[in-house]
Amino acid sequence: MKFKVLGCSGSRQPGHSLTSYCINDTLLLDAGAVCGYLDIEGQERITHILISHANLDHTKDLLFMADNLAGAVLAGRKDPLRVCSQIRVLQSLKKHLFNNDIWPDFTAIPSVERPTLILDPLEFGVPFRLAGLNIVAFPVPHSSGSTGYALYGDNPEEHVVVTGDTGPNGGWTTFVNELPFPVKNLVVECSFPNDLEGLALTSDHLTPRLLRQKIERLDEKPVLYVTHLKALYTRQIQEELQRELAGYQYHLPRKGVVYNF
Ligand SMILES: [Zn+2]
Repeated sequence: MKFKVLGCSGSRQPGHSLTSYCINDTLLLDAGAVCGYLDIEGQERITHILISHANLDHTKDLLFMADNLAGAVLAGRKDPLRVCSQIRVLQSLKKHLFNNDIWPDFTAIPSVERPTLILDPLEFGVPFRLAGLNIVAFPVPHSSGSTGYALYGDNPEEHVVVTGDTGPNGGWTTFVNELPFPVKNLVVECSFPNDLEGLALTSDHLTPRLLRQKIERLDEKPVLYVTHLKALYTRQIQEELQRELAGYQYHLPRKGVVYNF
């Protein structure tokens, strides 16, 4: 699986792009930083987007993608883009973004019969196939409907699990332990340093210490891809990760890096 990082920062500023991964050139996971990276042709190749949750740092470029793709849909050279997530997340996108107030309702443009976007609700725990991969959604504790995704090939050696934004509670480690293959690749967040644990807990995010406590509940010791660091605290978080993740192999992904999971 080709897993390209379009962005994975917890902050938006020069050199830092928000969360977005492009998988096998046709599937996106989150849309925080698509349009600054993929040109129109690249955007037209995308058939589906998995959304982890409705927060703007994971969805804002869905607005501009829809605007870019409407012409191709109207011309008949592209099928509608399917936006997949929990129903609660999709309702939020429709109500707060594609509401003909903040942005046009691209679920009815160019027409209701053939719109630019189709919202596809997902069920937790029910596998489906996209981009040649098996995908299962699982709940994570963050904003309403927040979802992580396990993506794996027919040979499950090819796999990655992406938690999305998550606090330390909830049972996603149990879900990961019960997958039918040992999880070796885990993309997980770490937004705040240890001394801001209160803020992390309030906002359902992780610190290096909370991350360590969480991953100790996993049966396997995956390679960690630690994302969503808040830019203001990047150096402190990195220093703390070195201590807290002793014994683990981990990477700090950057915009433009491609992993072959
Ligand atoms: Zn976020």
